Amino acid sequence: MKRGDPPKRRTPLARGDKPLRPDPSRYRDGYSHNSTLRGTSPARRQVLAKYDKLRSEFLEANPICRRCQRARASDVHHMRGRVGDLMLDTRWWLPLCRACHAWVDVHPEAAIEGGFAALRNTVNPELPST
Ligand SMILES: [Zn+2]
Repeated sequence: MKRGDPPKRRTPLARGDKPLRPDPSRYRDGYSHNSTLRGTSPARRQVLAKYDKLRSEFLEANPICRRCQRARASDVHHMRGRVGDLMLDTRWWLPLCRACHAWVDVHPEAAIEGGFAALRNTVNPELPST
C-alpha cells in the first residue's frame, strides 16, 4: 500500500454500493438531507432567521447582563421558554451574560424568585419590569 492510499476493505459494506448519503438533488422540499437526523424545516428556518435578527437588535439595545449588571450580555434568556410564539416574543427575553445564563438554567426556582425566569405553564404570568 502506498502512503496516502485509503485502506482497503476486506469485507463488503452491508449497504452494498449505495452511497452513504442520499442524493440531495432528489429533495425539492427545502430540507437538507445531509445526515440521518431530520433537517430543519423551512418554517423553522424562517423563524430562526427572524430570531437571529431580533436577537442581535435586542442585545444591541440591552448590552448589559440583567442579573449581574456588570458583564456584557451575550445571551438571550427566554424567560418562559422557546416553544411556539415565545421564541420571538421579546417581552419574555432577558439579556444575560453566559455565566448568568448558565446559573439561571441550573437554578430555575431561584431564577423565578429573582425575577429572571417565569413559570412556563401559567396563562397570564406577570410581565417582567423593564
Ligand atoms: Zn451576568
